[in-house]
Amino acid sequence: AKQQGRSQYQFYSPEINAQLQERLTLENELHGALERGEMLVYYQPLIDLHSGQVIAMEALIRWQHPTLGLVSPVKFIPIAEANGAIVPIGEWVLRTACAQTRAWQLAGFTPIRISVNLSSRQFEQPYLVEIVNQILEETGLQASSLELEVTKSFLMADIDRSVKTLKQLRELGICLALDDFGTGYSSLNYLKRFPVNMLKIDKSFVQDVMSNPDSAAVTNAIIALAKSLRLKITAEGVETQEQLEYLKMRGCDEGQGFYFSRPVPADIIAPMLQKSSQQ
Ligand code: C2E
Ligand code: CA
Ligand code: CA
Ligand code: CA
Repeated sequence: AKQQGRSQYQFYSPEINAQLQERLTLENELHGALERGEMLVYYQPLIDLHSGQVIAMEALIRWQHPTLGLVSPVKFIPIAEANGAIVPIGEWVLRTACAQTRAWQLAGFTPIRISVNLSSRQFEQPYLVEIVNQILEETGLQASSLELEVTKSFLMADIDRSVKTLKQLRELGICLALDDFGTGYSSLNYLKRFPVNMLKIDKSFVQDVMSNPDSAAVTNAIIALAKSLRLKITAEGVETQEQLEYLKMRGCDEGQGFYFSRPVPADIIAPMLQKSSQQ
């Protein structure tokens, strides 16, 4: 029941009807959701696999809908991308996450990096670099503490322009990660042109790295590729100790996944952070 709305017959299936109904509700109510205070930022730790310490957080949005409950970004980000609402929402996530990270530093925790997902719509904004810079100044967060996650699919839309924007972002001093690496159409040519610091191996490979030799081969190849390009490498979707041991053994730098923690609200994160020794 994935291809909702593609076939006219499917409109009469009650299941599809409910899905369409939900999508319509989300579409109608997305505008104003930010202003009504219904959006939340959750955080998921990234672990340095050498030291075992929390080294970063990824900011992941949630929508606390009044009747539907906590709505997954998988459901509403595509809608927000289509109608443009992602631009103000994404800017709010960035501001909230930077302010939260600065607040953790001021509370005496060892500084960590904050990683924020960027959508294609935001990436196309002519003022993106200025906005990022302004948010850093406003929140007092150092540029080196911020990482933006981009995906190959939207970088490929206009490679020359993407390279230019990525360079400008790097000049601010922020880090760039290539998210969901290994998925979709693959051409490695572009990789050396994009000035990114980090590759994130998509969780689909990590999740069956122990059971599927193809996934293990792709994972190993991505790690080797990252090393030869001197890029840092993160594995997302780490769920078991076996996966963790395997990735560590293969030389992966960082890990993220339910094995360490699910994405949680900021107040649940604080106890996972180390107190800074200077305090
Ligand atoms: P993503 O950027 O690839 O984020 C990682 C997703 O994997 C998150 O899903 C996270 O909860 C999930 N995950 C992490 N560890 C595990 C694990 O061990 N097992 C499994 N099964 N899943 C794990 P989430 O939070 O539902 O977000 C889904 C997607 O929504 C994100 O994928 C990202 O593409 C998008 N998204 C979330 N927040 C934002 C945002 O603020 N802006 C934009 N543009 N997109 C966002
Ligand atoms: Ca991400
Ligand atoms: Ca990802
Ligand atoms: Ca994704």
